[in-house]
Amino acid sequence: MPALTDSVIDDTNVAGTPAPLIDPYGRTVDYLRVSVTDRCDFRCVYCMAEEMTFLPKKDLLTLEELDTLCRRFMAAGVRKIRLTGGEPLVRRNIMQLIRSIGGEVKAGNLDELTITTNGSQLGKMAGDLYDAGVRRVNISLDTLDPDRFRKITRWGDLDKVLTGLEAAREAGLGVKINAVALKGGNDDELGDMLAWCGEQGFDMTIIEVMPMGDIGTENRLDQYLPLSRVRADLSKRFTLTDIPFRTGGPARYVEVGETGRKLGFITPLTHNFCESCNRVRVTCTGQLYMCLGQDDNADLRKALREGGDAALDAAVAEAITRKPKGHDFVIDRRQSGPAVSRHMNVTGG
Ligand code: SAM
Ligand code: SF4
Repeated sequence: MPALTDSVIDDTNVAGTPAPLIDPYGRTVDYLRVSVTDRCDFRCVYCMAEEMTFLPKKDLLTLEELDTLCRRFMAAGVRKIRLTGGEPLVRRNIMQLIRSIGGEVKAGNLDELTITTNGSQLGKMAGDLYDAGVRRVNISLDTLDPDRFRKITRWGDLDKVLTGLEAAREAGLGVKINAVALKGGNDDELGDMLAWCGEQGFDMTIIEVMPMGDIGTENRLDQYLPLSRVRADLSKRFTLTDIPFRTGGPARYVEVGETGRKLGFITPLTHNFCESCNRVRVTCTGQLYMCLGQDDNADLRKALREGGDAALDAAVAEAITRKPKGHDFVIDRRQSGPAVSRHMNVTGG
């Protein structure tokens, strides 16, 4: 496949500048999350079943299509793009897309290109990411215990992730650690992880398990741990002070007095974060989801393949008029199955 250079981007089909993406509730959408693959080299127990059927390649947007899509969103005012997955760094030739979009960061046309990753590929890719214009990565790490790590990720190797983390630091990438709070899985360890993040100079975000996708024999209710309880536990050991820092997403932040680092809590099930939502998500097949917690979506692949840039712009603009006020997540005793049928690896975190 050719590199994504100006020579392969078809300038003859460039539409005009689309209007800014403002939804019916007055929220400006300036943040795009793109899932570049549904595949992953791990099988985290809260995210996937062990046996997964992945999408056929023909259904995926090509790297060129993903590039076009990102650029049309940028034309409509998107200032921040996060690549996620599945595991974004296992998609073949993904650096081509990262270099292309990273070039827009260097040119000042995009504020930030960030990646959410399980860290397994960072040992070999961290330097390239930095060179391409990436400055921050979120690394998902739920435990520092190798046996537990294997149990939670099923297929992951903690050493490899820690090597990747070190490579990210050496490359100059800012690192934030994402940990999902799992009842009986890592809840006794979150304090030690927070202390470790402080020593390493990393911010940390703790995520509540969300009811997304069938996860086989695992039960959400067994995994679910309200973060109010996590915070109460951590408060016995750390001085946590609320701070007004916001990213437009579901996280609420505190400063950890003992380390001076930020700690975020993502509590989609126990708090409503939707009033300030500034983001939309595109899957690797080009479905645009206006809300992580709702199934309504728009088919951008069809628009892109059948109508080009102008049709894509129109499809995005129409979809934004359908961005819902809020989500419908619930985990309760009557319903422990998924509230949203797609897996997290489809839309990304
Ligand atoms: N593979 C990459 C990774 O793990 O960072 C990116 C994709 S992963 C789907 C993005 C984030 O979603 C990770 O931090 C992961 O822990 C989180 N996640 C996955 N399934 C989840 C669920 N059911 N509830 C809450 N968080 C989940
Ligand atoms: Fe893969 Fe990330 Fe899902 Fe774990 S959370 S299975 S690393 S996509």
